[in-house]
Amino acid sequence: MISLAQVNHQFQFLKDDILQAVTRVIDRGQFILGTEVSSFEEEVCHYLKSKHAVSVANGTDALILALRALDIGYGDEVITTPLTFFATAEAISSVGATPVFVDIDPYTYNLDPHKIEEKITNKTRAILPVHLYGQMCDVPFINEIAKAHRLFVIEDACQAFGAAWKGKKSGTIGDIGCFSFFPTKNLSTIGDGGLIVTQSEDIARRVKQLRHHGTKVKNYHDEIGYNSRLDEIHAAILRVCLPYIDEWTNKRVAHAHRYSVLEGTNNIRTPYVTSEESHCFHLYCIEHPHRDHIHTHLKTQEIASGVYYPLPLHLQKVYQHLGYTQGDFPVCEEKILRLLALPMHPYLSIEDQKRVIETLKSYDPI
Ligand SMILES: *Cc1c(COP(=O)(O)O)cnc(C)c1O
Repeated sequence: MISLAQVNHQFQFLKDDILQAVTRVIDRGQFILGTEVSSFEEEVCHYLKSKHAVSVANGTDALILALRALDIGYGDEVITTPLTFFATAEAISSVGATPVFVDIDPYTYNLDPHKIEEKITNKTRAILPVHLYGQMCDVPFINEIAKAHRLFVIEDACQAFGAAWKGKKSGTIGDIGCFSFFPTKNLSTIGDGGLIVTQSEDIARRVKQLRHHGTKVKNYHDEIGYNSRLDEIHAAILRVCLPYIDEWTNKRVAHAHRYSVLEGTNNIRTPYVTSEESHCFHLYCIEHPHRDHIHTHLKTQEIASGVYYPLPLHLQKVYQHLGYTQGDFPVCEEKILRLLALPMHPYLSIEDQKRVIETLKSYDPI
């Protein structure tokens, strides 16, 4: 079976270094908010060229703490995309705010910035674009819209660690950037982890307080916060992985180049890529009018493929009360039936990839 995202490969490859890092943590006997966390935060700041980085327990918490740090809550609206992992909207709802969806761009599948302004009301507080599948949104353009309406921009960069827009890394262009280190993400650990980056010292300080029960001074609580810290063990493992991220991204980009021979074959459409650096190929999604046939055929050939995501967020049961209906976001609703993720991970072998390409070339579902 050729798998979609063979996470195990990279941890097997780095196993000795990871075990050494874990041993170091055990021997030091410092397990929460110790030197591994502070060193990782420094190193990740350096890599992303960000002023501040605050690690948290997972990517969902990164989004929740980002919203809380900007005092977004009950009665507020946050504009986002209906085509994303549920956690994006879940975080907005968790702080008591309302997600307001906007249709997507048919090329990048990201929230269409030209459709943002018509959704801005006097309750809107922030725009929350998602760099879907690893391809960045035009954040500078979204920043301009936000500035004109005094809104914040929170980048959900959970799928796009290492991608860049005109030299600036994802997460560092908006007011706050949020990352996840869930095992399948481009930079990941063997469990949960998350990160917030910001260029504002005030926001960084507030997130540090929120992740640690709303406290600046131990046992003195200034606000209701969370228990949301990155464990020392995961910080140590992420420090082992971080130096490899560019190499891994380059491998993903090279796989994407090879997959691009599929463009036009049997009605397959390969991803539109804005620029060389803007897409880190967390997922490689092709489009096809008979997506489900291809999905099934690949399975019979022992090749995994994936649907991201089967149901747009505005049509989820949990958001029925928001009053959206089928047809509200036609681009998203069309694409969601056509998109299919092919095997993509740094250690995908050339032979396996060849087999995926040949299988797709020799199968015409129409
Ligand atoms: C993975 C992901 C999240 C959530 O991250 P967790 O670490 O699993 O909580 C949020 N948004 C997007 C777009 C993601 O892909």
